[in-house]
Amino acid sequence: MSERFYVNCGLELGAAAIQGAEAHHLAVVCRLRPGDVVCLFNGDGREYHAVILEAGKRSVELDVQRVEAPERELPFHLEVAVPLPKGDRAQFLVEKLTELGVKRLVPLRTARSVVHPGESKLEKLERWAIEASKQCGRNVLLSIAPLTDWAVYCGGGDLPEQRWLAHPGRAGGVSPLRTMPADRVLAVGPEGGFTEEEVERACAVGWQRIGLGPRILRVETAAVALAAWAGLPGTL
Ligand code: SAH
Repeated sequence: MSERFYVNCGLELGAAAIQGAEAHHLAVVCRLRPGDVVCLFNGDGREYHAVILEAGKRSVELDVQRVEAPERELPFHLEVAVPLPKGDRAQFLVEKLTELGVKRLVPLRTARSVVHPGESKLEKLERWAIEASKQCGRNVLLSIAPLTDWAVYCGGGDLPEQRWLAHPGRAGGVSPLRTMPADRVLAVGPEGGFTEEEVERACAVGWQRIGLGPRILRVETAAVALAAWAGLPGTL
């Protein structure tokens, strides 16, 4: 696969330009030169194969010669709602959820959550999703929702029928693999766990509680394990 670069604007056959950090990455870090071919994407599901005409540190001129729309998305909506873990672990979470094909990440505020991202943190999450998309070949970006209260989110009327909430302490539970591939949302609690009241409130409005085994997983491990599990029916 040729080196991939993200541009935050419309793309079509013909002239294109890359500016700022992505231009620096192309010209200085990757040392690409006129005549080299790269792949541009902007999150619209397509990729644009382009030859470099001029490579400056701040601006790169290209000619898009071919447009493709490879199928790399899950055939259903997969959403993960989770309180953000701290520091690097949030980056790990965004990176892995992007690779696994999750379409939307909803940062949660719950009774016991401690990290409540502001605008600048949410922008960082978007940047990490772009970096992961460059690496894994995804042409649709993981969308990042604003910080949302669990009480509001779990009762939301527009959620799909398949809603799973991970909560330790119950053997077995519903296996996502036994259900038909369909739109689905998954919820994971904070390090302190969901409160029993939060779990009951969700189960009362149709969420299914599931266990992830006898060990307690960290927030990001639980989210990634659950997303991988729930994403499989569409990819096998
Ligand atoms: N201290 C909490 C655990 C929190 S782990 C407690 O004992 O309840 C963080 C989150 O990861 C949990 O809220 C849950 O959503 C998920 N999780 C971790 N391990 C799990 C397991 N074995 N089964 C189900 N969910 C789990």
